[in-house]
Amino acid sequence: MRRSTKPTAEDGSFEVVRDARGDIRPNPDVRPGFWETHTLEEFTPAEWEATCDGCGLCCLFKISDEGRCHYTNVACRLLDHHSCQCMHYEHRKDIVTDCIVFDFERLTEIESWLPRTCAYRRLYNGQPLEPWHHLLSDTRESVHDAGISIRGKCLPEWEADIDRLEHHIIELPEP
Ligand code: SF4
Ligand code: SF4
Repeated sequence: MRRSTKPTAEDGSFEVVRDARGDIRPNPDVRPGFWETHTLEEFTPAEWEATCDGCGLCCLFKISDEGRCHYTNVACRLLDHHSCQCMHYEHRKDIVTDCIVFDFERLTEIESWLPRTCAYRRLYNGQPLEPWHHLLSDTRESVHDAGISIRGKCLPEWEADIDRLEHHIIELPEP
């Protein structure tokens, strides 16, 4: 059983500029169209963070079975089920010790069990961002409107039968 996390920038010493809706505002550390003009390795910390589409899928519990990764509808206890964001992002690793924080190096190890819709996985495999990605749609709501996120589709871990996670296996949305 394992869970993942939103990614992290290498030094964590930046702030993504967001408005009241959570949408990213112009930020000098985020170059226009960076995801098309630079590789993941070349992203600035702010660009690395901005790449996350906010689906929340990687914060679901997973089961590893003979090399296959199965997702469940059981969400980490720190996940906000409406925003699909971590409620204690800065200190998540202190609270949930098995939360996997990933940078580019770690991405190369875990890419195969991230969802196929995950923006990091897509860019890593040379695929474009999906049209519902906030960097293209200019709103964080589009990932929810497109039915990709886990909003309204998961249980908190204290309501699930953690010892029988196989009963909670789900199919993930396909891009
Ligand atoms: S601690 Fe936060 S980022 Fe990590 S799995 Fe839980 S909700 Fe996701
Ligand atoms: S795009 Fe979705 S699956 Fe990928 S890191 Fe962000 S929340 Fe997780």
